[in-house]
Amino acid sequence: MLYGALEAGGTKMICAVGNESGQILDQVSIPTSTPDETMPKVIEYFKSKLDASLPDDEKIKGLGIACFGPVDVREGSKTYGSILNTPKIAWRNYPILETLKEALGDIPMGFDTDVNGSLLGEATWGCAKGLEDAIYITIGTGIGMGAISGGNPVHGMLHPEAGHLIMSAIPGDDYKGHCPSHGACFEGMASGPAIEDRWGKPAKELADKPEVWELEAKYIAQAITDILLVLSPQKIILGGGVMAQAQLFPLVRKYVLEYVNEYIDTKELRNINSFITPAALNGNQGIMGAIKLAENAAENN
Ligand code: ADP
Ligand code: ZN
Repeated sequence: MLYGALEAGGTKMICAVGNESGQILDQVSIPTSTPDETMPKVIEYFKSKLDASLPDDEKIKGLGIACFGPVDVREGSKTYGSILNTPKIAWRNYPILETLKEALGDIPMGFDTDVNGSLLGEATWGCAKGLEDAIYITIGTGIGMGAISGGNPVHGMLHPEAGHLIMSAIPGDDYKGHCPSHGACFEGMASGPAIEDRWGKPAKELADKPEVWELEAKYIAQAITDILLVLSPQKIILGGGVMAQAQLFPLVRKYVLEYVNEYIDTKELRNINSFITPAALNGNQGIMGAIKLAENAAENN
């Protein structure tokens, strides 16, 4: 069975066709500019995968959309499937799901946040396979978190926004944070742009400065400790551009154990190397999660 998958990101839209095994059979990348410019290309791609001239088994049977946020993921809500108050002004209040439904007609569609999508990919085919409680944190231009709890994606009143957890300043760090809403929240202190703002150089160019990654690891560990105390996940997956600094992983693990301070004794914390891990799907976790969203939508139809 073939499914359409859309990973809608702030810089690019990845459109793909995959199957029930999570194999990606075809993929294109379209730059995200404005909806007027970008969406017709996205629609054209998926229309071609539904074309009447195709044999039935070559047509997609559903579409999954993992979208940058904030987004309305509450089924039944008036604005379900819309992007909400994003800093990307052109996309603010844009009804991305409805637009795709109008253009592509009556195929089942699944919709979730980009980070829940990545986590779903990892929970289906990657390092969180078989787990019912896991989280995925992306640390890049922004910081976002997806969560599954009891096997279900966490949505609630909106969806988790753990990138904006309020942080305690690490002694010696006088950086005030760059989040326009909170200053020194997790994203304000630890995103790629925060690193660049604090140290005066892009994060990538600071690879050989241990003090940068010590401090970064302490903020990430602080957030992870708060999150694990609340959600009790069985695995914590870290992705995003900043986590390309592999040196962060051992430091983050060390400081999480230090902050938890033996208060929790579980096999997960005793096996910290597999508890706090990089994503396992080679950057395809988001688009594979979107394939799974499509499959789930088709099955629920
Ligand atoms: P986005 O969050 O925009 O989807 P990324 O996850 O790639 O995209 O994150 C981009 C951010 O990650 C930028 O702020 C960039 O400075 C930072 N970044 C990218 N590559 C690296 C790297 N190798 N080391 C450290 N930081 C990086
Ligand atoms: Zn914030």
